[in-house]
Amino acid sequence: MKLNEAIQKSRKIVIKIGSNTLAKTDGTQNTEFMQSFARQCSNLIKQGKQIVLVSSGAQVAGVSTTKEWARKKDVHYRQALCSIGQVELMHQWRKAFAMENLHIGQLLLTKDDFENEHRSLNIRNTLFTLVDEGVVPIINENDSVSFDEIKIGDNDNLSALTAILWSADLLILFTDENGIYTDNPKTNKDAQLIEVVNSIPELRNTIKIGETNAFGTGGIETKIQAAEKTTVYGIPMILANGGVENSLEDLTKDNAKGTLFLAE
Ligand code: GLU
Repeated sequence: MKLNEAIQKSRKIVIKIGSNTLAKTDGTQNTEFMQSFARQCSNLIKQGKQIVLVSSGAQVAGVSTTKEWARKKDVHYRQALCSIGQVELMHQWRKAFAMENLHIGQLLLTKDDFENEHRSLNIRNTLFTLVDEGVVPIINENDSVSFDEIKIGDNDNLSALTAILWSADLLILFTDENGIYTDNPKTNKDAQLIEVVNSIPELRNTIKIGETNAFGTGGIETKIQAAEKTTVYGIPMILANGGVENSLEDLTKDNAKGTLFLAE
């Protein structure tokens, strides 16, 4: 199956955008990207798709707002940075979606929320209600309250849990690479893009997993974990490059490369 076919077949789509895609190389928020992305989401919604966004970028937005806290590694400072940055992040998303006449709703979640029956039912109902009313929910981890035991830690896994909870048809993870390669394409020019993954255990035997990149927390490992989670529930996952212009639109038109993890 091609990437655009996977999108065409799906009505309920969870899309995750990583910090590296949302921030420019100088660490400031890429508002042009956010505007263009909101427009592309709006076009999909007009075609009858339902969209839930998972957006990273709170910490990097906090760093770019406060500037002088950038070097502090202390956990309380990092949680405080997320609390500052989350406001900045949503401010930009609100502006971007308002240009498309769309409202947004914010949900900040921790692992605990997914494990608790009542909370997860409330999250599910809130998502259904928001989407039914034409609002775009935007989810992030509640970084300023989470500690190790209740932390998901990365938005790749958070997106997978969201896709399962909302009974999505498809999960799209936008990252700063075209997909999964046989080796790190930044250091090995012979690395090959893997376009379709039918078996994740087999994939794990074929590729080398490197370390994480500049702003994000996940790296390839958490993206594979996300695919492991969703495909078990019959939800395919696309990993694609969000850092290029019209990334979402290109995927829907078969103009973009990526890795499609098919449901088992
Ligand atoms: N929740 C974190 C933030 O908004 C990012 C987590 C991730 O990059 O996966 O900064």
